[in-house]
Amino acid sequence: SCPRRMMGADFQRLRNDFPLLARPVRGQRLAYLDSAATTQKPLEVIEALRRYYLEDNANTHRGVHFLSDRATELYEAARERVRRFVNAARADEIVFVRGTTEAINLVAATFGRAFLRAGDEILLSAMEHHSNIVPWQIACEQAGAQLRVVPIDDDGEFRFDEFERLIGPRTRLVAVTHVSNALGTVTPLRRIVERAHAAGVPVLADGAQAIAHAAVDVQALGCDFYAFSGHKLYAPMGIGVLYGKSEWLAKLPPYQGGGHMIRDVTFARTEYDLPPRKYEAGTPNVEGAVGLAAALDYLERIGLAAIGAHERALLDYATARVAEIGGLRVIGTAREKGAILSFVVDGFTAGEVGSALDRHGVAARSGHHCALPAMRRFGIEGTARASFALYNDREDVDQLVAALRTLRR
Ligand code: PLP
Repeated sequence: SCPRRMMGADFQRLRNDFPLLARPVRGQRLAYLDSAATTQKPLEVIEALRRYYLEDNANTHRGVHFLSDRATELYEAARERVRRFVNAARADEIVFVRGTTEAINLVAATFGRAFLRAGDEILLSAMEHHSNIVPWQIACEQAGAQLRVVPIDDDGEFRFDEFERLIGPRTRLVAVTHVSNALGTVTPLRRIVERAHAAGVPVLADGAQAIAHAAVDVQALGCDFYAFSGHKLYAPMGIGVLYGKSEWLAKLPPYQGGGHMIRDVTFARTEYDLPPRKYEAGTPNVEGAVGLAAALDYLERIGLAAIGAHERALLDYATARVAEIGGLRVIGTAREKGAILSFVVDGFTAGEVGSALDRHGVAARSGHHCALPAMRRFGIEGTARASFALYNDREDVDQLVAALRTLRR
């Protein structure tokens, strides 16, 4: 299908879909430039949550009573909605989790238990978020395995040559971000998957910063696991997705044990349900799944291609405008970037820059962005980071630049 072309003016109107953006902050217009941390929610997502609790709430057990069937249907419809969004081959390859962090912990814990042995290696990149480092570190400690790290260059590009050098007979899995939250780098995920698969090694991709900014097709990418969070995708907090190829979900052991994930339990042994339920112990987040489905409807009506183009134009505009600020240096200058502009300003800490922005109604993150190794790679403590979403416009960027101009020693 051909997405309807949206023009700049149409995007201008989309800001009105997000009630919170109308809220003044510190007496000024809000320039919300922290969507990489979490996105604001459109009214139709908020309404979907309200409707769920007004009309449909119950626990999910099929065949127990009317509302329970209804909640189960909504939950499973959301799973199918996600399947379509990422073009997974089957709905049972979609596991609902709390977010990216839980998705990666699920794979690290279960893969670690089943397949990691002493002397094995897990291959990461130097720009991973802590949530794609620490779970692997824990799994490696338990197995006596090791982390190996693919370096990045001065622009923040993934060093593919080093990756080819590091992948070897001890590599059990490659875990790599699709888009870096600290630098904005888009990694060559498809090439990484091809090279890893040639060596018989599965790939987990951290899609937290990619999923809301370009169409993601897990079959075209070929990755074995793909993790993302609803809250970075205009959906509620507390819901996220682990996509896992069915052959992997069939052979990994369960993550947590409990209700909803079993077929039979005796004190001697438990027979687990099939995936995805095998990985979804306990009462599910039906409300979150309903909100996620509503967010995906909203996004696809606008079109991911149009959103990507809009954000790229804003990033280019912002990159050009911040160059006017004396002593400002952009950290992360990869050829292909997501909707992220990280920078440092001579003579000011990231925290000082963030406070100056905040005083002018500009919401931006400052700090290490849960990517301390990437900060150390550039010899800095942290950066200020403006990140863009479909509801941002040039006025937000102009407000950012005006606030940066007030930085004076
Ligand atoms: N990975 C990346 C690249 C991120 O940007 C984030 C969130 O900042 C995460 C993982 C963790 O996501 P969550 O906190 O939603 O689990």
